[in-house]
Amino acid sequence: MMHQLYPQVFHDYCYELNKDMHIAAAHFIPHQLAGKCAHIHGHTYVVNITVAGDALDETGFLVNFQKLKQLVHGKLDHTLLNDHQNWFDSKNSEHFPTTEIVARKIYEVVQDYLDALPHKPKCLQVFVRETPTSYVVYRPKAGDR
Ligand SMILES: [Zn+2]
Repeated sequence: MMHQLYPQVFHDYCYELNKDMHIAAAHFIPHQLAGKCAHIHGHTYVVNITVAGDALDETGFLVNFQKLKQLVHGKLDHTLLNDHQNWFDSKNSEHFPTTEIVARKIYEVVQDYLDALPHKPKCLQVFVRETPTSYVVYRPKAGDR
């Protein structure tokens, strides 16, 4: 696996964890202005998820790395992103599977999981690289982290 440096998130939490994953998936952007991205095609997405917090759980984890992989890679790897109707919606541009929205959805799924944990870790950043020359960073607004 490539070891890449990601943009830093500045914060005051004691612990910060980062989980990398590679996701092979197809998508298309169902809009006439999307050009050739309107045709189904594939990427190997490189995803990095940053989670932080001040407290650990009873196993000494901030969050279990395997659980993060299961939530995101386990759901999206080797799929057509447009098929995940609880993540994406081909009729609403706020839910098209663009790189930006893929990053935001990953954030939402991870933070929903973290919200149920008693020690309340926070997802601070989701990095999604779609191609060797293009990536997106999603960060929640300051009040949500
Ligand atoms: Zn694409």
